[in-house]
Amino acid sequence: MESRKVYMDHGATTPLREEVLEAMMPFLREKFGNPSSIHAQGREARQAVDAAREVVAAALGAEPGEIFFTSGGTESNNIALRGTAALKPKSHFITSSIEHHAVLDVCKDLEEQGHRVTFLPVDSNALVDPRVLEEAMTPDTAMVSVMMANNEVGTIQPIGEMAALAREKGVLFHTDAVQAIGQIPVNVKELQVDFLSLSAHKFNGPKGIGALYVRKGVPLTPLYRGGGQERKLRPGTENVAGIVGLARALELAVQELPEKMSRLKHLRDTLIKGLLKIEDVILNGHPEQRLPGNVNVSFKYIEGESLLLSLDLQGVAASSGSACTSGSLDPSHVLMAMGLDHETAHGSLRLTLGRGNDEADVDYVLKILPPIVERLRNMSALYKKR
Ligand SMILES: *Cc1c(COP(=O)(O)O)cnc(C)c1O
Repeated sequence: MESRKVYMDHGATTPLREEVLEAMMPFLREKFGNPSSIHAQGREARQAVDAAREVVAAALGAEPGEIFFTSGGTESNNIALRGTAALKPKSHFITSSIEHHAVLDVCKDLEEQGHRVTFLPVDSNALVDPRVLEEAMTPDTAMVSVMMANNEVGTIQPIGEMAALAREKGVLFHTDAVQAIGQIPVNVKELQVDFLSLSAHKFNGPKGIGALYVRKGVPLTPLYRGGGQERKLRPGTENVAGIVGLARALELAVQELPEKMSRLKHLRDTLIKGLLKIEDVILNGHPEQRLPGNVNVSFKYIEGESLLLSLDLQGVAASSGSACTSGSLDPSHVLMAMGLDHETAHGSLRLTLGRGNDEADVDYVLKILPPIVERLRNMSALYKKR
């Protein structure tokens, strides 16, 4: 049997690029200084952090003073949401029902703390309707948080349009852009958002480092107290190597974006076309407004988890939504919000493409998948009695 290693789980994380590792290495070895130290080693580290901040700001269309380094997407989201909630008791927040848990679960906490939260519905393609957002805003709405691109089904939201509606009403706008950065163009000045979260390990950078864009002059209450790092918003000795790695990864991602987008779109569309040839398969997510690297399909009559195990045995790394990671059997909240029935949601498979994937990977998946699906269906009671 032909065996190949195919990584198609870039939505979960991406491999660290060689150039990024190279940029980081000196800061894990000889350039170990603490950026807060006055001596030469300290100044060297400080300069590296400052330079990285400028690179990140330029890549996003922001000012360096608007970039705050954090430990990743989860922390950036927490700082933006909780930091705004702490400014005023009993305010109103609006989010979508398909957010990553790093927004959704924070919003549930805010509800318990006495804030009111509206979870906006989505249509069958996972799109939020800006008119529904407009109607949901009230005079006490403090913030709207809607993700730029969904991690499960890849649907891209009209963030600029929604941010404009919020701005008209004097409401702050946050977007979790963790999946979007490095896959589609993102410019904070064009989008006119107030907060934006990103995470390096989703664009071939290191894990445990991210950033939060905070528009100049927008107040936030820090979650932690400590030293004065990151202008007191996120104290703690800087992850210098991580920061340098994030900046290098982002710089490369932005440079290569046009080429990467067209290459991934082509691979994605070939994969989707091939998968839809299998009987009883549906595409989840928007047919056009979707991330260049995202494929999410549901196979009727089988479990996504069994599909994953069979694929893994043949060297293919994929995912079936985020539910399986928690060990629970709950179907994905994203697929449920899109109106899928339980059974179809359980049969979902996410294949997320990235830098290393090529035509041969797509061909391999399209070759091994149909027999796996057939075998699993032949064992399925649901399939037999359909
Ligand atoms: C991965 C991801 C996160 C979490 O980022 P971490 O850096 O892993 O904490 C948040 N939101 C979205 C949409 C993601 O895909």
